[in-house]
Amino acid sequence: MQISEVTVFTYKANYNYGTYTMSGGRVNNGEPSLVIRIRTDTGIEGWAENAPLGSDYLPSFFTGELAALKELAPKILGLDPQSPTNVMAIMDCHMLSGLAAKSIIDMACWDILGKSVGLPTHVLLGGCLTKEVPAFCVIGFDDLATAVKKSQAESAKGVGNDPLEDAHRIRAIYEALPKNVRLFPDANTGWNIDQAVTYCRALGQDITLPLEQPCRTLADSAEVGRRTGIPIIADECIFTVADLVAAHQAGITGVNIKLSRVGGFTKARILRDTAVALDMTITVDDTWGCALTTAQNIQLAASTRTDRLRAVDIFTEWTNPMIADVPRMQSNGFVAPADLPGNGFTTVNQDILGEPLFTTVA
Ligand SMILES: [Mg+2]
Repeated sequence: MQISEVTVFTYKANYNYGTYTMSGGRVNNGEPSLVIRIRTDTGIEGWAENAPLGSDYLPSFFTGELAALKELAPKILGLDPQSPTNVMAIMDCHMLSGLAAKSIIDMACWDILGKSVGLPTHVLLGGCLTKEVPAFCVIGFDDLATAVKKSQAESAKGVGNDPLEDAHRIRAIYEALPKNVRLFPDANTGWNIDQAVTYCRALGQDITLPLEQPCRTLADSAEVGRRTGIPIIADECIFTVADLVAAHQAGITGVNIKLSRVGGFTKARILRDTAVALDMTITVDDTWGCALTTAQNIQLAASTRTDRLRAVDIFTEWTNPMIADVPRMQSNGFVAPADLPGNGFTTVNQDILGEPLFTTVA
C-alpha cells in the first residue's frame, strides 16, 4: 500500500459556551482546526484532526503546523501508511519541529491501518482495556444538575491567576459538586512556585485535589508537589519519554498526554506504556478540535489500563460543528469506544470543510 494523495482542510471548531479562558488572560471562542485526508493506491483513505490552541499555549501554532504539513506532504507520498512508525521516522529525519503536523499525518496513517485490517485503532494500540472511559466533564446528574451546571461555569475559569481567588473558587466548586465528581484544577503554567504553594495552602488541608502543571517548568511544578504534598500532573512540559522519566524521578505522579503535543499515536503509545510502567496516572487529551480529535482521544484512552486512566477529553461536549459522528458521552459521564475500523468515526462531512487548503499528489 502506498500514500498517493495528501489533502488538508480547515474549519473553525467553535467553543460552545462563549469565551474559553485560561490563566494569564488567554482567551478564545474557538480555534481553526487542521483536518487531513490521506488517500492510498488501494482506495482506502484515512482522516485525522488537530487544532493548535492559539499561538501562546504550546510551540505548535496554526500557520506553523500548516507550513509543516506543506513541507511534509511530498515526503510521505509513496510510503506505506500501514507502517506508521516508519512514516514517523522519515518525518523525524526530515524535520525537527512540526510535532502537531506530524501527529495528524501519523493518526491518519493509523486510521488507514485500522481500516485495512478491519480493526479499531485501540485494538491495534494494545487492545480494548477500558470499555467505559471516564470523560472530562461529568454532567447529567438528575437531582444535582443545577449545582453541577452552576459550578461548570465557574470551572471553566480554571486556576492559574490570583492564587487566593482561585483557591476560594475551587473550594466553592468542590463543595457544590457531589463527592463522586472528580475535579482536576489546571493552572496551565500560570503560577510561579510562590503562587502555586499559596493556592495549595489556601485551598485547605481537608481538600486534596491533584494540580495540573502549576508552573512553566517541570522542576518548579515538581517543587510545588514536594512542598505541599499535592499530587502534580505534568502536561505542557512533557514532549518525550525522557521528559516523562524526568518527571517521574522528580516525584510527579500524573501525565496529561496530548496526542498532538507528543507526535500522534506512534509516540503517545510509548509515553502511555512508559507512564503505566512507572505507575503514573494518565489523562488523554489534545489541544483543541472536535469530532475527529474526540475519536482519536478515545482510541488511546480505550487501550489504556483502567486503573491508570484518569480521564479522556471529549471535545464534542464543548465544541462544534461535528464533521463526523463519534461516540458521545453517556449520562453517567463515561464514553464507550466505537466498534469501527480505524479511528472510530463515520463518513466525514466535507460540506463543512469546503475547499481544501492544499492537495499534494504523487
Ligand atoms: Mg493541562
